[in-house]
Amino acid sequence: GTDEPTARRRVAVVGTGYLGATHAAAMASLGFDVVGVDTDENKVRSLELGKVPFFEPGLAELLSAQVATGRLRFSTDAAAAAADADIHFICVGTPQQRGSHAADLRFVEAAARSIAENLTHDALIVGKSTVPVGTAARLRALVAELAPAGVRAELVWNPEFLREGKAVDDTLHPDRIVVGGASPWAAGLLRELYAAPIAAGAPVVECDLPTAELVKVSANAFLATKISFINAIASVCEAAGADVTVLADALGHDPRIGRQFLDAGLGFGGGCLPKDIRALMHRARELGVHRAAGLLQEIDEINMAQRERVIEMATTACGGSVLNRRVGVLGAAFKPRTDDVRDSPALNVAAALHLRGAQVTVFDPEAADTARRTFPTLSYASSAAEAVEGSDVVLLLTEWQEFLDADPAALAGLTPTPRMIDARGKLSPERMRAAGWEFAGLGRVAA
Ligand code: NAD
Repeated sequence: GTDEPTARRRVAVVGTGYLGATHAAAMASLGFDVVGVDTDENKVRSLELGKVPFFEPGLAELLSAQVATGRLRFSTDAAAAAADADIHFICVGTPQQRGSHAADLRFVEAAARSIAENLTHDALIVGKSTVPVGTAARLRALVAELAPAGVRAELVWNPEFLREGKAVDDTLHPDRIVVGGASPWAAGLLRELYAAPIAAGAPVVECDLPTAELVKVSANAFLATKISFINAIASVCEAAGADVTVLADALGHDPRIGRQFLDAGLGFGGGCLPKDIRALMHRARELGVHRAAGLLQEIDEINMAQRERVIEMATTACGGSVLNRRVGVLGAAFKPRTDDVRDSPALNVAAALHLRGAQVTVFDPEAADTARRTFPTLSYASSAAEAVEGSDVVLLLTEWQEFLDADPAALAGLTPTPRMIDARGKLSPERMRAAGWEFAGLGRVAA
């Protein structure tokens, strides 16, 4: 019960980005005493005030409410948090290394090191970051080496499957809870921590460390495969005069296939899928499993080729060159309902057209600030209408609902040459054409 503070588990969440801030707020809402630790002082300062420094639906409300109860606080003092907590979640980033496909493990190593060195009593360290298979075993050895004498520190892996845009709900109602390498003591503690989602029906999969690490990256690889598969088929559709959206709907009626992740278009991006499949490709090669690596490489290449394809379509729509042409871009985030522009296909295409001399005006309902920080030289509009106004071509690059709901005739009236490239397969060609647009889409029949 929350009125028995001495019995309350003290939880530290190391790394308070998209994953960690959500996890920390969710753990506090389940009644635990939580401290979120980050090396980024600005982030911590904002979170301490109950403000989420990025856009994630529902998180601001949850987090500010939990900060107000006093159960959730944030700090840059990793040593104090490590000394105090009973359970330590590692939620730091594992980005792609520069100049390599491999994951950069400096942050997880630093986090494990600082937790282990500062422990004062028995503790459970729970890795949640996405890591290449084999990492957890190395971190376990590191923790054993660094933990003070007489302190029992156990490291387990509990990969996270949340989706940005649905992070709060996914954290509180996970599809499954995977726990790798747990002793009976650790497994019991985690069942206590996740008692609410388990009671609500979340299945628990207990396995060894490498299986847990691989479940996460395989899930992402499978989703990426679905997207690149439909994009490969979309190219065949284009060549053969077929319509990939009708095809995908028909495929999706087969429950073995399912309709989700079969939207042909600009492909996947973000802070997870691209770097995770590349890290798995790299790790598979290290392990000598070349076929798996080759499959993942093809998936990555198909995905990246979609961006080139959209740039080419925009160039064609502009009459062969985008130089000084006005390109209206709808969307900068890597997907709707987030402000995340890490490896965003939308921002990537906008930037490439800008570098080729186009006058690119971008509108995104939530990601304008993050996009501006990444690409300050692009112009940013404050509405979709402003991005469309006077354009030679409009590109729908992120499928925000407000773009799909916009009145196509009203938008068409804003430019003398209404040309739309739907790179997300979400607009109806008939409806757009009836509203006066010259319309093109990936894997769709040309007019
Ligand atoms: P992020 O970049 O938003 O957050 C990472 C945070 O870790 C940053 O705030 C950074 O300052 C902090 N950090 C780095 N080193 C630190 C240290 N030594 N001590 C304390 N803080 C430190 O990244 P994210 O999207 O939250 O992803 C984190 C991990 O979770 C990655 O491995 C990612 O693959 C995985 N993951 C992310 C998602 C997602 O949708 N974002 C979903 C599942 C898994």
